[in-house]
Amino acid sequence: MTLVAILSGAGVSTDSGIPDYRGPNGLWRKDPEAEKLVTYDYYMADPEIRRRSWQMRRTSATWSAEPNAAHRAVAELDRRPGMAVRVITQNVDGLHQLGGMPERKVLELHGTARAVTCTRCHARSSMREALERVEAGEADPACLVCGGILKSATVMFGERLDPEVLGQAMAIAKASEVFIAVGTTLQVQPAASLAGIAADHGARLIVVNAEPTPYDEQAEQVVREPIGSALPELLKELA
Ligand code: ZN
Repeated sequence: MTLVAILSGAGVSTDSGIPDYRGPNGLWRKDPEAEKLVTYDYYMADPEIRRRSWQMRRTSATWSAEPNAAHRAVAELDRRPGMAVRVITQNVDGLHQLGGMPERKVLELHGTARAVTCTRCHARSSMREALERVEAGEADPACLVCGGILKSATVMFGERLDPEVLGQAMAIAKASEVFIAVGTTLQVQPAASLAGIAADHGARLIVVNAEPTPYDEQAEQVVREPIGSALPELLKELA
């Protein structure tokens, strides 16, 4: 078995119509008002921020997005005999799973937009259900278990990554024989350092990204072509 780790960032989902929100040049970072909607302290302190945040979730591009050729190519690689694929993703859109990757093989570093959690009792439920309550007129739906403030199950600015997910990602990076960083600028920690960890532990590092990354020099191969065509081709030729 060849263990292939795929670290995916916003660039993988742009062909699915999902813009880069979170990256260094993402929409949120460029718009301080929008960034407040996804910053934990502002969110917890201000019901108006939460009301606007629910409206933003309601109209998110995620709900109409379909997996694209890159998502499908990753799932296809996983089905190929002799290949074990693990996805470590910075995306919260769930498109790898919709594209055919089994849930248990996808690590979501920044959580998922498809679920909500309670900030008090940590009960988890579906985003769809919460958004139905918003549609029905609740501006800021509270936890049905304890009445606490609900938030998207994504990692907001000011929140820590789940240490268990991060630990698993580190272990995969260390164990992988091939590590492909795709559609990520490799500038956000700790996701970026995973590429370095993989290379330090002997993985073949491949970078697929339109822009240069800090890890290009350590990479065995750097691909600048559009992800939707370049990644399927690269994975097909992977031996
Ligand atoms: Zn609760």
